[in-house]
Amino acid sequence: MSERSPLPAGPLAAAGLNRQHVFDLAALPAEITATLGTTAGFRQLILLGHGGKRLWECVQAAAGAGGDPIDDYCARVVADWFSAELPGHRYRIVYPGSPPVPLQQLGTLAGWHHPTPFMVGIDPEWGSWYAYRAVVLADTGFCPSRADDRAPQEAPLGGSSPCTGCQARPCFTACPAAAMDGASFALEKCIAYRKRDDSKCIHTCLARVACPVGSEHRYDDDQLRHAYSISLQTIREMC
Ligand code: SF4
Ligand code: SF4
Repeated sequence: MSERSPLPAGPLAAAGLNRQHVFDLAALPAEITATLGTTAGFRQLILLGHGGKRLWECVQAAAGAGGDPIDDYCARVVADWFSAELPGHRYRIVYPGSPPVPLQQLGTLAGWHHPTPFMVGIDPEWGSWYAYRAVVLADTGFCPSRADDRAPQEAPLGGSSPCTGCQARPCFTACPAAAMDGASFALEKCIAYRKRDDSKCIHTCLARVACPVGSEHRYDDDQLRHAYSISLQTIREMC
């Protein structure tokens, strides 16, 4: 690998990690680097995410077992990628893990994240149908990504929030808990509704599904069920 070469994204994308962003550690805000633990010996932070259905299809095909099959699968993809593409380079996965890494702050710096009324990130290409899958410290010297780095099909859409020009706002009316009817998102209403036995949001978020942006990338029912079962379990353990 020559210095400042682009990150070899092809194998990651083929495995479902089809969103990548490279940060130089020296360029990151101090409040982010403070969450990463020791960074001695590392030069860069690589943010990996998925958009759309591809990752879930890969996870199903790999039939991964374990506590969280997506996390286990992504850790294997990262390990295989370093082994095949970057032999001899050091890395450490800081997300998933603890302490928490500010994913939405990284996503904002990467140009991936704009806030929605229901508190999930959105961008013009993928809508809300993407997620952060791994954050990796590495001793690499790739060319850092720019916040406006976008695939050619994304370029005409620009980087502004889709919510800015959304007049109809179907997410508001789709929420059965009316969690967005106030000045800010009422998380307590959402949580109370999701815990109800007759809730329509046990395995989904109807507001998210109602958003037309990136709807072609919307997760299928199995992927939705997986994601929202985990969040509901967390809610029930904490509340
Ligand atoms: S429906 Fe409109 S306001 Fe709601 S998240 Fe989608 S773009 Fe934003
Ligand atoms: S999960 Fe259901 S209750 Fe919560 S914001 Fe989404 S639509 Fe509303």
